[in-house]
Amino acid sequence: MPGDLHIHTSFSDGKTSPEEIVSMAKHLGLKYIAITDHDTVEGIAHLYENGLYPAKGINIVPGIEMSAQDPDHEVHILGYNIDIYHSELIEKLNDVSEARWTRFTEITEKLKALGYSVSETDILTIAGDSKAISRSHIGRALVKKGAFATVREAFDKLLDRGKPAYVPHYRLTAEEIISLIKKAGGAAVLAHPKLVKDDEKVVSLIEMGLDGLEVYYPEHTEEDVKKYSALAAKYNLLPSGGSDFHGFTARHAIDLGAFTVPDEIAEKFYRDEKH
Ligand code: AMP
Ligand code: MN
Ligand code: MN
Ligand code: MN
Repeated sequence: MPGDLHIHTSFSDGKTSPEEIVSMAKHLGLKYIAITDHDTVEGIAHLYENGLYPAKGINIVPGIEMSAQDPDHEVHILGYNIDIYHSELIEKLNDVSEARWTRFTEITEKLKALGYSVSETDILTIAGDSKAISRSHIGRALVKKGAFATVREAFDKLLDRGKPAYVPHYRLTAEEIISLIKKAGGAAVLAHPKLVKDDEKVVSLIEMGLDGLEVYYPEHTEEDVKKYSALAAKYNLLPSGGSDFHGFTARHAIDLGAFTVPDEIAEKFYRDEKH
């Protein structure tokens, strides 16, 4: 009964609702899952507040994924076992998700100027109830309109850093994110270290006080796994891993249950509130 510690829901840029994720994961026989939406914990609150949080059959780790302010690197930090009602956490997440809306308008204006006929409504239809409007919603809208064959292509041509429709949004720094996650009672873990594309930067992030490293990730080769396992051991970090499931092909295509980590790894991130 393995686990998956990196899953997105429709409350950020995933396609699948939190309750569907829970039911799929139960069917697949996963023992541990972490819901790690971008910049929001509302998917987890939704489960709690509607009596959908499973009492048995599966263990859920309340999590988050936050992107850090960094001019040169893609730095994403996962928080596990955070108190989703921590007031400073909620306040900061609101600031970031609000900034995502301003940036959304700026991107749609750029797209218009570049001659793409995708409207705000087209994108909002795809975003549904998302609390963290994302470039991946925009990518999916562009694919739906026939402008690109895949979301990845939309990123390569338009939406990625340095591309014509790229607009950054307000983010906390890595130090602020790590400290916020810890204040909210959580463990801070560097997501997909390979995508940082700079191992010296990874070490400098570790030295800021990370608790763990996402050693196991679909885009990591065997060699990457060896390297990041050794790094985790050297700095006394908990190794973590997950699929980065979105319910559609985002960076990579993956089905829930197709990429998992063993219980010995996942259980280190689970806190049973009953004990
Ligand atoms: P945002 O958080 O709005 O900046 O959007 C980033 C999201 O887009 C990530 O969370 C991924 O889900 C997705 N994404 C990032 N890079 C790519 C890419 N090259 N191809 C497809 N999806 C991507
Ligand atoms: Mn995403
Ligand atoms: Mn990420
Ligand atoms: Mn992710």
